[in-house]
Amino acid sequence: MATKFQKDLQKYAELAVRVGVNLQPGQRLLVRGASFEHEALVHHIAESAYKAGARLVDVFWANEQMDRIRFAHAPRDSFNEFPKWKLLGPLEYAERGDAILSISAADPDLLAGQDPELVGIYQNTIWKEMAPFLKHGTSNSMNWCVIAASRDVWAKRIFPKMETEKAIAKLWKTIFQMCRVDANDPVAAWQEHIRNLLTRSKYLSQKQYAALKYTAPGTDLTLGLPKGHKWASAREMSKNGIEFTANIPTEETFTMGDRNRADGVVTSTKTLNYGGTLIEGMVVRFENGRAVEAHAKKGEAVLRKMIATDEGAARLGEIALVPNSSPISKSGLMFHNTLYDENASCHLALGRAYKFNYVGGLELTDEEFAAVGGNQSLIHVDFMIGSGEMNIDGISDDGRAEPVMRKGEWAFSV
Ligand code: ZN
Ligand code: ZN
Repeated sequence: MATKFQKDLQKYAELAVRVGVNLQPGQRLLVRGASFEHEALVHHIAESAYKAGARLVDVFWANEQMDRIRFAHAPRDSFNEFPKWKLLGPLEYAERGDAILSISAADPDLLAGQDPELVGIYQNTIWKEMAPFLKHGTSNSMNWCVIAASRDVWAKRIFPKMETEKAIAKLWKTIFQMCRVDANDPVAAWQEHIRNLLTRSKYLSQKQYAALKYTAPGTDLTLGLPKGHKWASAREMSKNGIEFTANIPTEETFTMGDRNRADGVVTSTKTLNYGGTLIEGMVVRFENGRAVEAHAKKGEAVLRKMIATDEGAARLGEIALVPNSSPISKSGLMFHNTLYDENASCHLALGRAYKFNYVGGLELTDEEFAAVGGNQSLIHVDFMIGSGEMNIDGISDDGRAEPVMRKGEWAFSV
């Protein structure tokens, strides 16, 4: 007899396949980022995918311990080494329009205490070498999805006082709750959740605010929105016509700002896990869209390296709204994992904007997209700014202000 955990794991895998990537008969599926601890989950995913009509399911395993060993022993001038197959493998799938499911379960402290210089070179090398693949994601060439999976190092970071086995089980339980796996019919529960989110984004898209004004302790920021910006959430359409849900869980409604119109100061409210380095207490000042000052209580050197990656890395590519009462926020947990933390809080992303956040954006060349205010960069890094003290106004063309959020909650009904 299967235990409750085994049944939930199977339902979770099915959710990722049916609602997440929404795999279509005849498609291939690539699973990326799974650790060896996730073998059972990956096997359930493969079964669900073949049942849904997949022709081939493939997996690229990840092993962070190899990075730790590399940082300890590899020559200091070798951190720009990158084997081409790591790009070419996933790229083959993306170019064919195959479904891609990524598993996020990184050790938040993987690179803690390492030389920021080396961490910078290591990160920038990944962004640069993987860019041809990552571009397919931000332009929705295929149906893709990111889910999380519990594992020792991550679970222990969230529940440090628990024994490892208990912490892993507790994190799985939390993931199943946040992802509605414990609902009677998780797929149906998700359809309703997606409908609700889409109603919000439709309302905001119709409003076509010229700008959003944010106020909160440590934050006084105005972000310009280009005419033709589009709010998105939970359900997107791939270029090959497949509707998919890019993140499970997802609680956000998001759009792109004008790359040249961000002015004021913003303070982060949650720790950011940037590829194994924690950045805490970020304060960034923007002028004409550009971050002209950046400080952090922890991880400042890595933050500065990140912003200096390229021209667009100092500008914003995503503006996302999440009510403070989202289930993930209500859990009160600090996940140190962007997939979870970004769905607990309003956030912004430095770097690349999503072309689908602009009407007709997927058909624009990079130059045309930049001309309408779309930001380009190798990086896309979300950082959390929301709280129960945040107010946001939508400013219309004629300068009128309307409440969008009050005390971290939606201020309009739909
Ligand atoms: Zn987001
Ligand atoms: Zn983002």
